[in-house]
Amino acid sequence: METIYIDGSRGEGGGQILRTSLTLACVTGKHLRMENIRSARRKPGLAKQHLSCVHASRQICDGQCRGDAIGSQVLDFQPGPVRSGDYSFDIGSAGSASLVIQTILPALFLAGKPSTVTVTGGTHNPWAPPFDFLREAFIPAIATAGFRADCRLIKHGFFPAGGGKITFEIQPRHESEDTAIDLCESISEAQIHARIYTARLPEHIAHKQKTLLRQSKLNIEHIEHVEVTDSDGPGNCLMISLVNKRTVIFTAFGMRRKPSRDVVDEAVTLASDFLTSGAAVDRYLADQLLIYMALSKAGQYTTNELSTHLTTNIETIKKFLPVDFKTEQQDGGYRVFCVPV
Ligand code: AMP
Repeated sequence: METIYIDGSRGEGGGQILRTSLTLACVTGKHLRMENIRSARRKPGLAKQHLSCVHASRQICDGQCRGDAIGSQVLDFQPGPVRSGDYSFDIGSAGSASLVIQTILPALFLAGKPSTVTVTGGTHNPWAPPFDFLREAFIPAIATAGFRADCRLIKHGFFPAGGGKITFEIQPRHESEDTAIDLCESISEAQIHARIYTARLPEHIAHKQKTLLRQSKLNIEHIEHVEVTDSDGPGNCLMISLVNKRTVIFTAFGMRRKPSRDVVDEAVTLASDFLTSGAAVDRYLADQLLIYMALSKAGQYTTNELSTHLTTNIETIKKFLPVDFKTEQQDGGYRVFCVPV
């Protein structure tokens, strides 16, 4: 049995190298040996959220692992055949439920029958895709290549309290489906919407953020305020969506001692830089689509930024699958495309 050796200190050096390696070990059945896990992070090794990704991967394929402990920087993972089914995972912290789902999603799409996955943890976390991003940007984008899922938020979970819950219904992708991701058309003429989540916070916060969004250079008029009542702890998450045929989402998080002006500026700057670039895909979706392009051995998009998450993910994917990715510089950004080798 072939072993794929992954050095977790390469490139971006974070959790994504681990998650992509787990995903593709499940998809290919190849044995994974990983060292230096998250060595570029302040607290290196496996945290609860990463351990949940390891255990979720093990569970969907009845695999075996060694080194699956908090703080471990070495992991051996021997996957078995992936089985569709009903799965439930509890991260046990505010770790991102989205990232756990994203780890096992590709393998379950290819498992032949429908699956349901429920994850308890954080649903709106900094440094991870918030639930709205999955529902409105990520799922529609991968559906264009025949990877279809529906998702539902059952309970909100903000960092640091966690305790949220999301559920995914995953349809098997049929072999006859040979469409690939093709997202090169600029999102110009988009309607601009904003959504402000507040949980267990004084009313004036949402009010202030609304005013700042209206006065910002994007002059946002369509603003929804969601007062979250089911959350275990406080939270403030602000999203700007660019909507035409597709939706592109930019997120900023409020936190203690971070002025609302900074929260609004962060999201407005991301959205307006993106609009000016004429790109189709934001920097986060850009790194998340690569696995789906690799599974279709085709696909392309334009993006305004080549992040280290993107370049590191390409290197990791190429260790498992016979594909290559090319990047071409263009006006305002890059075209990224996948080719078989
Ligand atoms: P890592 O830092 O290695 O754990 O990877 C974080 C993952 O979360 C990457 O796939 C990012 O694209 C994704 N991510 C981080 N922040 C956001 C955000 N604001 N919106 C969507 N995805 C995000």
